[in-house]
Amino acid sequence: MAMKDGKRVYTFGNGQAEGRADMRNELGGKGANLAEMNLIGVPVPPGFTITTDVCNEYYEIGHDKVVALIKDEVERSLKHIENLTNQKFGDAENPLLLSVRSGARASMPGMMDTILNLGLNDTVVEGLAKKTGNPRFAYDAYRRFVQMYGDVVMELKPASKEEIDPFEEIIEKVKEEKGVNTDNELETEDLKKLVKLFKDAILERTGKQFPDDPIEQLWGAICAVFDSWMNERAILYRKMEGIPQEWGTAVTVMAMVFGNMGETSATGVCFSRNAATGENVFNGEWLVNAQGEDVVAGIRTPQQITLAGSRHWADLQGISEEERATKYPSMEEAMPDMYKELDALQTKLEEHYRDMQDMEFTVQEGKLWFLQTRNGKRTGAAMVKIAMDLLREGNIDEKTAIKRCEPLKLDELLHPVFNKETLNQAKELTRGLPASPGAACGQIVFFADDAEKWHHDGHKVILVRLETSPEDLAGMAEAEGILTARGGMTSHAAVVARGMGKCCVSGAGAVNVDYKKRIIEIDGQILKEGEYISLNGTNGHVYKGEIPTQAAELSDDFAALMDLCSKYTHLQVRTNADTPHDAEVASRFGAVGIGLCRTEHMFFDNEKIIAMREMILAEDAEGRERALAKLLPYQKEDFKGLFRAMNGYPVNVRLLDPPLHEFVPHDTLGQQTMADQMGVSVETIKQRVESLSEHNPMLGHRGCRLGNTFPEITAMQTRAILMAACELKKEGFDPHPEIMVPLVGNVHEFENQERVIRAEAAKVFAEQGLEITFKVGTMIEIPRAALTADKIATHAEYFSFGTNDLTQMTFGYSRDDIASFLPVYLEKKILKVDPFQVLDQKGVGQLINMAVEKGRSVRPELKCGICGEHGGEPSSVKFCHKAGLNYVSCSPFRVPIARLAAAQAAVEE
Ligand code: PEP
Ligand code: MG
Repeated sequence: MAMKDGKRVYTFGNGQAEGRADMRNELGGKGANLAEMNLIGVPVPPGFTITTDVCNEYYEIGHDKVVALIKDEVERSLKHIENLTNQKFGDAENPLLLSVRSGARASMPGMMDTILNLGLNDTVVEGLAKKTGNPRFAYDAYRRFVQMYGDVVMELKPASKEEIDPFEEIIEKVKEEKGVNTDNELETEDLKKLVKLFKDAILERTGKQFPDDPIEQLWGAICAVFDSWMNERAILYRKMEGIPQEWGTAVTVMAMVFGNMGETSATGVCFSRNAATGENVFNGEWLVNAQGEDVVAGIRTPQQITLAGSRHWADLQGISEEERATKYPSMEEAMPDMYKELDALQTKLEEHYRDMQDMEFTVQEGKLWFLQTRNGKRTGAAMVKIAMDLLREGNIDEKTAIKRCEPLKLDELLHPVFNKETLNQAKELTRGLPASPGAACGQIVFFADDAEKWHHDGHKVILVRLETSPEDLAGMAEAEGILTARGGMTSHAAVVARGMGKCCVSGAGAVNVDYKKRIIEIDGQILKEGEYISLNGTNGHVYKGEIPTQAAELSDDFAALMDLCSKYTHLQVRTNADTPHDAEVASRFGAVGIGLCRTEHMFFDNEKIIAMREMILAEDAEGRERALAKLLPYQKEDFKGLFRAMNGYPVNVRLLDPPLHEFVPHDTLGQQTMADQMGVSVETIKQRVESLSEHNPMLGHRGCRLGNTFPEITAMQTRAILMAACELKKEGFDPHPEIMVPLVGNVHEFENQERVIRAEAAKVFAEQGLEITFKVGTMIEIPRAALTADKIATHAEYFSFGTNDLTQMTFGYSRDDIASFLPVYLEKKILKVDPFQVLDQKGVGQLINMAVEKGRSVRPELKCGICGEHGGEPSSVKFCHKAGLNYVSCSPFRVPIARLAAAQAAVEE
């Protein structure tokens, strides 16, 4: 990295600032907003912010060089604070104390470090005591400083995770000796003693002397904040939130204001609206005579800021009104003037930022200061409500309301959710991939048929499998959730679960499944069949025991947001659905058609699988036709259900795609059952199963290779689709069938299939005395299909990009086997994201762009869509918009997400 010239430190204070709100990239969110608050007349203690670039330089050139690089600017800025406060850092008579705080571009609450009350030593503390006339306060500040600095900078930590904080241990001992219960009962002499004991403990356990020189303290703290950018929880949080490491953190150094100077001082945290529900109600917590960390640390019970909030809180706690008013009064009651000012300023801040604000404040002897403001984190429900309320209130326009909502967070509104309070006490067992969102808990079962049985007996179950196969479908449908040890985000379990809107955690590698003993083992812990576990499919966490869930309710605001999306969107959103139920769910969410019906999912019902297996067992075309004739009526009924559910909208049915071996049992018991059902010997079954086995089934006899070798399958499916359409048309419905040929890589593969389809169609229409308009199209999921799209489009009437296979074949990564290397690739940053989740725009995207262009060069009206899993992933949807696709198709519960992402793509243009 080349050293940049220019400014690295930005000052603020007294209504002036060198930075602004829109400089969050350089100053971090906290630094930028502190500058902005100065500019709009919100009282903020003076200070300065060291830029995020310096953080990167710190990691590039190291501690000493960075200190040398910014020394002059920091010293000058420190003078600036001294001038504005009329105090001097390190002075024995009139000392200035500082806070040193982190702040990245995106807010990372609690992930990095902060040091308060910096600049004290044995001499300075005496000056502070004299100046304030409050020795207890001075020594309280001193012991807080040594404690925080000792923890954060000098790293005196608990020896093991079982041990309590060493500083708290000392405080407890001193309180015990004195016979008091709370910190506030400690007197000046006790606090003095604590400082000494803290310093001794630091020396003894770290071998380092506590620094007395305030300047040395300042540099120690600044560098500690930079160091905290790379602490474990910050790294993990960045990973979860997709925050790049290169962003770095800024460091803000500010004059301290004290909420712990007695009964006219206080500190608190507040929100301009409710972050959980989105309600437009000012709320927050505060404490008299305290510093910021007291509110969040949970040592003292924080009180509510508003009277209404306080009464509600007391209600929940079962505290009487009298006790509440005397012991836990609201700020509105205890400091009415301060409260009025706070309320006016929080309103001002929300109006200025036009979004819900999360603020920190301190009252020092009757004077209110703001220490921070940021756009508050919120739940999905709150996100939608706040955006739509702000729109109605005239604070933001429609396009801004659309942009304010994060597509993926809509998920939280659609699936059952864990009860937050109980979740905090739950024991996390392990983590897997967040394959399908939502919350689920139930008793462990290992087999699909058990899942069905237990469910019918009234149990809630979680189906735990090494991996799932299509045969598990019925069991999956009956389970509350699915946990697999193997498989990625496009594994069968994940795709199917998402389609069902069913919670699923896949690829949880630490789970060892022992089917024989019917147990799982996770890091030495054994869980048996019937024991309760809970899954959070939204983040992949797995918990022991039963965590209660609550159903999500769709609000009017959600509906209003969706309407707003439609107003701006060009890209249509269809759904991937194999059952009328899925189609209805998707339709309620606003899907305008089915973009992919995977017909194979229809073959697993008892009767159907028998006919299917008969077909597989058949020796010749005639035998196959006999078996297919049995399947025909089932298929026809299935399609009728879909056409009905999507009346008036296109329904794109894909011809049979998976290799036939997926339809036969691989275990002895299953093979015996099949032999009995078919009236043949087990040997015959075994032989057939063996003959179907392939070295690489994903590249084997599947897709249109099935239809091209067994055209009778294509003919039967075409007949079922078009008969269903004809019959419904006669009943007054308006079906729009589309017939799709999968896995085409060569135009002749398509031509052959098209011929079979058209010939069968002509027969059906003649028999029915009725013609239905239908389209024949293809999937583009093999790179060669994209490369030769102009040839294919001379025949195909539409393209649907199957980006699951297209990703698989472009990368050469088996979609079912990525679990073994993907985590390492992500860890080592060989890949930034899982390409099966987020469309690889550089590689796979190029193929899509090329195919669209080539296809439309010979057929300008060529309809193009996507039906791989990426069709419901926001950044991929935005890509599809730019690529000029006509629609995206995704699982039902992703439809609102895709609609929002599509609208955002349109308004961002
Ligand atoms: C695809 O490959 O993207 C696709 C939609 O088909 P499937 O996932 O069924 O292979
Ligand atoms: Mg495919």
